[in-house]
Amino acid sequence: MTDHLPSLRETLDAHGLLAKKSFGQHFLLDLNVTRKIVRYAGPFEGRSVIEVGPGPGGLTRALIESDAGKVILVEKDPRFIPLLSELDDGSGRLTIHEADALKVHEAELAEGPTHMVSNLPYNVGTPLLIKWLTGPWLPHAMTLMFQKEVAERVVAQPDDDAYGRLAVISQAVCEARIVMHLPAAAFTPPPKVASAVVHLVPLAVRPSPERLKKLERVTAAAFGQRRKMLRSSLKQLGGAALCEAAGISPEARAETIDVAGFLRLADAL
Ligand code: SAM
Repeated sequence: MTDHLPSLRETLDAHGLLAKKSFGQHFLLDLNVTRKIVRYAGPFEGRSVIEVGPGPGGLTRALIESDAGKVILVEKDPRFIPLLSELDDGSGRLTIHEADALKVHEAELAEGPTHMVSNLPYNVGTPLLIKWLTGPWLPHAMTLMFQKEVAERVVAQPDDDAYGRLAVISQAVCEARIVMHLPAAAFTPPPKVASAVVHLVPLAVRPSPERLKKLERVTAAAFGQRRKMLRSSLKQLGGAALCEAAGISPEARAETIDVAGFLRLADAL
């Protein structure tokens, strides 16, 4: 347990730290909430966990209490490094990297199957998810807090308003579900919108990097003009002939095509 440590609020006060808007800082100071997130993320069974943006360390404390083999932190704001160092018991289980998560090579931070658990900064949540879904390094599983609206875009199904590129790319690579909703008031300072935690588990069979690139091209074109029929939104990529090769009606609209349909369009490119 980490109950012997001063409370997160006391720690923030002792270090004179206030949240910075430019870093998307909205903190979870209630350990009951962070422990619940970690329960959804685990069990880790000794595997490593990377946490992006630990900030004052509320989620980190819950990870330290868990069955994670190693807890690896990536924090961009240097002000938090001394405070996070206080969580290190010297056993080598915790490592802290002052770095931009958009630029780090995760494979160099952790060996073997590794979980990603994070209350993501709102301004870079989507680019980070895309990086982990399409990059060379894929986590064993991801448990990620997003703005509710982004979480809904990740898990959306055809014909949902939120269905678009993010849903197709996410679900082509992972099984994704929302496991928890949190009101804005759960954070200090509270953001303008509610949040939700998404749990993503990579599929046993995933598209190759080349297939994913094609999927990104097709979905960018199709959802770039989502109200148009595919024969016109996909005109530059082959239009009606491409749709027919994929067994999809050229008169259909992007929002009605499921992930398997988009993969067939990518293969027909
Ligand atoms: N995990 C903490 C919690 O739940 O209380 C803080 C979450 S706060 C929403 C986002 C954190 O990500 C902040 O600590 C912020 O400094 C950090 N951050 C923002 N941009 C980052 C980036 N590009 N790379 C790494 N950390 C970043």
